[in-house]
Amino acid sequence: MNRDYQKMWLDLGLDLNAHDSLLSSLETGYRDFFLNRKNRPEEMAYLDFVMSEVHGLRIKELLNAKASGRKVIGSFCVFVPEEIVLAADAIMVGLCTGADFAMAEVEKILPRNTCALIKSAFGFKLSKVCPFLEAADLVVGENTCDGKKKAYEQFKQLQPNLYVMDLPQQKTDIGREHLQSEYQRFLTAVEQLTGVEITAERLRHGIDLSNKKRAALARLARLRAADPAPISGLDALLINQVAFYDDPVRFTGAINKLCDELEVRIRNRSGAAPDGAPRILLSGCPMAVPNWKIPWLIEKAGAVVVGEESCVGERGCRNLVAETGTSREELMAAIVDRYFKIDCAVFTPNPERESHIVEMSRALKADGVVHYGLQFCQPYIIESMPLEDRLQKQDINFLRIETDYSMEDVGQLQTRLEAFIEIIS
Ligand code: SF4
Ligand code: SF4
Repeated sequence: MNRDYQKMWLDLGLDLNAHDSLLSSLETGYRDFFLNRKNRPEEMAYLDFVMSEVHGLRIKELLNAKASGRKVIGSFCVFVPEEIVLAADAIMVGLCTGADFAMAEVEKILPRNTCALIKSAFGFKLSKVCPFLEAADLVVGENTCDGKKKAYEQFKQLQPNLYVMDLPQQKTDIGREHLQSEYQRFLTAVEQLTGVEITAERLRHGIDLSNKKRAALARLARLRAADPAPISGLDALLINQVAFYDDPVRFTGAINKLCDELEVRIRNRSGAAPDGAPRILLSGCPMAVPNWKIPWLIEKAGAVVVGEESCVGERGCRNLVAETGTSREELMAAIVDRYFKIDCAVFTPNPERESHIVEMSRALKADGVVHYGLQFCQPYIIESMPLEDRLQKQDINFLRIETDYSMEDVGQLQTRLEAFIEIIS
């Protein structure tokens, strides 16, 4: 990780010592999980560069954009519509929630039995190590699970520019109307923040940029159905993680170039894992940077992850917004249609998710599904129980894992994953 940005970090109010320790642990993880692997696609060099500059050049770009009058909006959830942000010529960035930081301080504010993802957001804020959070002009939280909903009440004390979006919990007509009115409220807030009137033309541009990015990610997802898989699950997860930080146009170009390379690898039967390696579909809670533990363990055990049924993955990028509307209202309705299909476990009931997992498992020729639930995440852990029954009835191998961000359970997880992989081989 490039460290030539001390003054910029200081000006943003970061704690340089704590930040340095975050960069050091990122560096070690990245070297061990990514750079030391063999037979990675050459185009992954772009992702390696982005990661080496994720707190450097990318932040400089954001600050330059701010100096020219553009705004930066941070988000924690795939329900925040990037189309609206891009339509106002603002920049959207995902906020890291993938590592434990300052846990002793966090647990003075939140109960111990809060999921690691929520605690991580607080840890990054309290220890002043996230330049994205500090550079953001607006941070968008959303009322999804109970943990997030209540935690944002506390987070607002630390991050006064927090805007909370209220999301529906049921896929009913009333739920859809509610989402529509919340997206309208968000559009107004973005217009006020940026001083830009979001016209139909601007909205169409935002939709076009987001659709192209999602189409590139969907192309990558489809290529992973090949056997042998042309790219490792770790690299594919990294791409889905970087999708939240990088400039959308540049990122889309880079991922399409990578997909061109993967098509050649598929023709040459050059895989990221040996022929016949067991294929795993990962399903469950989102995995934000630098949460790479489970795919790392799976691939270390000789299997390959071929898909992520996750917000950092398929749930976040599938379905494009229809581009047929002409008025702003029609385009907004199309945006609502697209987001209302997201099958997050906070919806009740949520049968689409089960069907989608079966569908993904078949399409990607997975030998088994590993369900990843963060400890204390009730929505996903509760859903994983009936899911297990349904998949078993359909003869799909299933393993349920509950974990957090620490490495303390690595030995135990490794034993369970190795046993599962042996069974499905
Ligand atoms: S799991 Fe649900 S709440 Fe979390 S990022 Fe995804 S859509 Fe948002
Ligand atoms: S992982 Fe679960 S508990 Fe944590 S924020 Fe997401 S839905 Fe809520």
